[in-house]
Amino acid sequence: MSWFFEEVERMPTTTAAREAAAAADSRAEAARIFRLDNEHLAFRYTATLSDRAGTEPFERLSDPDRLRLWLAVNGIDPGRRPTRPQLADAIALREAVYRLGVAVAHALPVAARDRALVNEAAAATGAVPELADDGIRWRLASLDTVAAALGVIARDAIALLGGERPGRIATCDGPDCAGLYLDASRGSTRRWCSMSTCGNRNKKSRMRARA
Ligand SMILES: [Zn+2]
Repeated sequence: MSWFFEEVERMPTTTAAREAAAAADSRAEAARIFRLDNEHLAFRYTATLSDRAGTEPFERLSDPDRLRLWLAVNGIDPGRRPTRPQLADAIALREAVYRLGVAVAHALPVAARDRALVNEAAAATGAVPELADDGIRWRLASLDTVAAALGVIARDAIALLGGERPGRIATCDGPDCAGLYLDASRGSTRRWCSMSTCGNRNKKSRMRARA
């Protein structure tokens, strides 16, 4: 009967183990649906609409469950399914952050309405950062945990767009991408939102062109 006990031992038995297994499942699902490789929370969030410079931008936040999944794997789990109006708020915030980022990147005028929207979202209270095994996790102790989670993103956007972090805001050169990133390289030589996706794609196409 020893094989039987071995099987049992391999199953997650404690709540913590079950939670860890569920979190790993969520991360795998999120990695399949989203692009999670941008280093900065607010810019990573803007990449939930991808291929922005292409003819058909791709909406990855297609329903409230996906919004919850994205928030959860980025350390700001609201603990419940967002409503449809909350999804609309989340997308409005995302697009305001993106437009502001493009304006900063290309020295264009900033829309006061976008700035007001981000500032208002940032005023949501009830989010407390905690150090976790995998970085920062936010404890959301508000009545509206979705607004609190969006507030975390909005405050990160303000830190990035307001110049609190050293670097230059730019848009990706990848074909169809135009994703935002913060170039912290010496001499501002970075061209891609992420080396593992757009940078890699470019490297491969250059190699094909040479072959
Ligand atoms: Zn890119």
